[in-house]
Amino acid sequence: MTTPPADGDRAATWRLAAGYPPADDHEGFLIGGDDGGPACTCGWRGDPEPDGPDLPVQWRRHVYSAVPELPVWELAEVVRRARELLEQSVQRARTRGASWELISKAAGISRQAAYAQWGGPLRDAVPSPGDPETYQAFSDELLSEARRMLFHARGWE
Ligand SMILES: [Zn+2]
Repeated sequence: MTTPPADGDRAATWRLAAGYPPADDHEGFLIGGDDGGPACTCGWRGDPEPDGPDLPVQWRRHVYSAVPELPVWELAEVVRRARELLEQSVQRARTRGASWELISKAAGISRQAAYAQWGGPLRDAVPSPGDPETYQAFSDELLSEARRMLFHARGWE
């Protein structure tokens, strides 16, 4: 094990905001000096070469190499959240009076499949279409959440 600098320089430490325990075991940090460079609490040492990839990028590559199933976990999380967001979007469209015909076309599936998947009772959490401001906030929240998940999936959060 290598320990990060004890000087409390949080700017020089990196963590993947993954929430996946095997990835949580890796914390990156910088070692100063001519022989310095990126390092990890697991003992990995990166290349101090100034013309190489950015030091945090080297460390990020190390983590994805050390935890090869990490993208699977991250994308499974994205898919799970995207399904929730899709269901919420369908509920919102239903609340606003969209037909199953329109919803199924938008989702790229048959009307029967759309109804089978989302035909349950509407939940109370869906804002009323009579309140446009709440509605807009709800919509913005869904979109920003989806963007955040995709951003994270690409490994740049
Ligand atoms: Zn590591």
